[in-house]
Amino acid sequence: MTYQVIAECLDCGQRTTYHPTVQACPRCGSQWCEARYDLNAISQTLASRLANRPFDLWRYRELLPIQKPNPVLCMGEGGTPLFRAANLGMMLGCPNIYIKDERQGPTNSFKDRQASVSITALKDAGITEMVLSSTGNVAISFSAYAARAGIKLWAFLTSLVPAEKMREVAIYGTQVVKVTASYDQVKQVAAEFARQRGLYLERGSRSILSVESMKTIAYEIAEELTGLIGARYPQTGQVEAAPQRWRAPDWYIQAVSGGLGPQGVLKGFNELYQMGWTDRIPAIAGIQTDGCAPMVHAWKQELEKADPIQAPRTYIATLSTGDPGRTYSLLRQRMLPSRGGAGGIFESVSDEDAFRTIHIMAKMEGLSMEPAAAVAFAGLIKLARSGIIKPDEVVVVNCTGHTMPIEKMILGENWSRDIVVPPAEAFKETPEEGLLAALSRVSSERFPRVAIVDDTPDARRLIRRILQSQGDYTLYEATDGQEAIALAQKEHPDLMILDLMMPQVDGFAVLDALKKDAQTANIPVIVVTAKELTPAEEKRLQGRVHKLMQKGEFMNDELADEVRALLR
Ligand SMILES: *Cc1c(COP(=O)(O)O)cnc(C)c1O
Ligand SMILES: [Zn+2]
Repeated sequence: MTYQVIAECLDCGQRTTYHPTVQACPRCGSQWCEARYDLNAISQTLASRLANRPFDLWRYRELLPIQKPNPVLCMGEGGTPLFRAANLGMMLGCPNIYIKDERQGPTNSFKDRQASVSITALKDAGITEMVLSSTGNVAISFSAYAARAGIKLWAFLTSLVPAEKMREVAIYGTQVVKVTASYDQVKQVAAEFARQRGLYLERGSRSILSVESMKTIAYEIAEELTGLIGARYPQTGQVEAAPQRWRAPDWYIQAVSGGLGPQGVLKGFNELYQMGWTDRIPAIAGIQTDGCAPMVHAWKQELEKADPIQAPRTYIATLSTGDPGRTYSLLRQRMLPSRGGAGGIFESVSDEDAFRTIHIMAKMEGLSMEPAAAVAFAGLIKLARSGIIKPDEVVVVNCTGHTMPIEKMILGENWSRDIVVPPAEAFKETPEEGLLAALSRVSSERFPRVAIVDDTPDARRLIRRILQSQGDYTLYEATDGQEAIALAQKEHPDLMILDLMMPQVDGFAVLDALKKDAQTANIPVIVVTAKELTPAEEKRLQGRVHKLMQKGEFMNDELADEVRALLR
């Protein structure tokens, strides 16, 4: 059985049966309509059907404007994994950070949800040719699905889009139109082209198909979090009849350009809450770049409408929407606690912060991502360090976007060791000798020796990982003070990274012992502690340690920089 979907006009309230190619309210002409469902009826049926459906976005089809997946088009869209970011969490002192890995969609961004739902419905409605504008990823994803559907696609791209992405759009057979202009202008050109030719135009935040597709991120997060950490039950019994109990996070964080993602995700969490499946709607953190942050300016100045940025200044083309238009006002209206929203914030970070965060995420979590995705994580770091995100809160970050061909400017120089293997003739007798000699040059240096002293295995692992990923060191570990003293006497490390709070022999006692022995008195020490020090304790450390760092506050390059500076 299929459920009726209603399109409700946000301006005049008119309710009509939804149809994918009707793009305006029949009464007032407004282009802003939202889908409405019979949530009570769907809550019951959906709960009982979930067990028998695969984990992809179609498992929530009763809550989508197209309830019939087209098997010819499906490529495993949605159903991306959610997992914990343990190292990042430790670095920030926020243990409950989860990553929704949207890179694992068919074309590696969350735009796959939008493209798959939209193209499925449009194919069904008989559309054969369409137009869109894009900062890159929308075009790539729609191109893939349009190719499967046999729909001709015109993609208008701003010339800021990296050449690799443009070529990826083209390989799918899409007609690429490269426009040398800002993204906002490109949008207008594409709209005019579609109007003149009478073609379907993808309208992002004003497209019910697009907005509804993004809800599936919210559904998946709630379902996956429940599997990982269990549901959270409401205090009062008002929604006891709900057939399903899921868990919503406290925060959903995403890098934001036009705002379609948060718009849909917020609607999804709202619907789960209305069905009584979750006990809250998460706060939203929308992160932009300093050079193109119209939503951040408007949010901080408490403006209802965002002032457009005419000339965005950012290298990160994916996030170059200068004029978010009404999407911002809608988001604000739904986020403001004073209007019943769950709260949240818009914040910005610099391009450089994002590039640095690419390194952190790759080296600490094993995730390679495009700069736009790193903007979300740079925002998380900023919000956690400023205390806006609290240590005990459950945070989900949308990690979307390609692993792009990494640009030189991000990686810098000296990122590889080069080995030249001499031709085999040079070593007639034993050709392996040439290879071994070449390899020995890679490991011939004497690496600085660093002792890591901490009684928690996780903390040792984190510090080890930070040092490993930032340089070459010979690392020793000691799990308590006694061991640390013995290690110092035996190995004479070039540096010790010392925890203060350890049972029996604590960090202070280790320092006392090191200083007493002429052999170990000069080993430089960096103290890393989770403890707020009393004035007396600070006095005990004075002049005896080279650096004091607060656990959960230092980022990996700070520690690595200190280590490098001391070893120089
Ligand atoms: C599209 C996109 C964004 C911005 O998403 P909106 O919800 O449209 O603001 C951010 N990061 C990446 C990688 C994207 O592809
Ligand atoms: Zn209307």
